[in-house]
Amino acid sequence: MSREELISQLEFYRDIGISQIDVGPVRARTMGPGDAPAQAIPTGETMSLDEIRKDLGDCQRCQLAGTRTNIVFGSGSPDARLVFVGEAPGSDEDRQGIPFVGRAGQLLTKIIESIGIKRDDVYICNVLKCRPPGNRNPEPAEVAECSPFLKRQIESLNPKIVCCLGAFPAQSLMGMNVPISKFRGEFHMVDGIRYIATFHPAYLLRNASKKREVWEDMKKISATLAELGS
Ligand code: URA
Repeated sequence: MSREELISQLEFYRDIGISQIDVGPVRARTMGPGDAPAQAIPTGETMSLDEIRKDLGDCQRCQLAGTRTNIVFGSGSPDARLVFVGEAPGSDEDRQGIPFVGRAGQLLTKIIESIGIKRDDVYICNVLKCRPPGNRNPEPAEVAECSPFLKRQIESLNPKIVCCLGAFPAQSLMGMNVPISKFRGEFHMVDGIRYIATFHPAYLLRNASKKREVWEDMKKISATLAELGS
């Protein structure tokens, strides 16, 4: 980490009210009875990320194909134990073809690094792979076409934890239709994988006081990853 990156990371800690870092274990909420085991149930049809990307091709399945610059498939490690899912690419992501590279993305990188994980070691993607014009909300037909690819990516990665950034991915992947403040920071099993939702980094840019809650959620994720082992 460069000096500038270190300063920026420490500023992030200061912003979330941290003056000292406790590196001791933090226990996650225990799963309730009836929770499924941590391993995803193999379907026998799991594809590699490259195969899924090939299958997506020069996607023309929805109207966003007409306005996008690049498909933003996802980036990070195919061996990631932790996956972050956002809503849809913004203008920076559309231009570069990489998720979370704008201001919200820089904050996401700090959030990931705050628990001692490198951005390259997680996997980051979105519910939609193409930018909705003017960053409008995704439309149901767009989600219907795109989300099967996301689900296949998650199946291929088979991570220990999927962290939904904001209400939109939480709705698509966890089936949550209540305000995110009601369930953020709680683990829910979906298809044998632990899902958790936290606030979207773009929301944190407008509501800095919420960084504290995201920090709590990140500590829970870190502790659970440690408990689950490799
Ligand atoms: N916001 C998102 O939800 N995804 C991105 O990739 C960038 C910003």
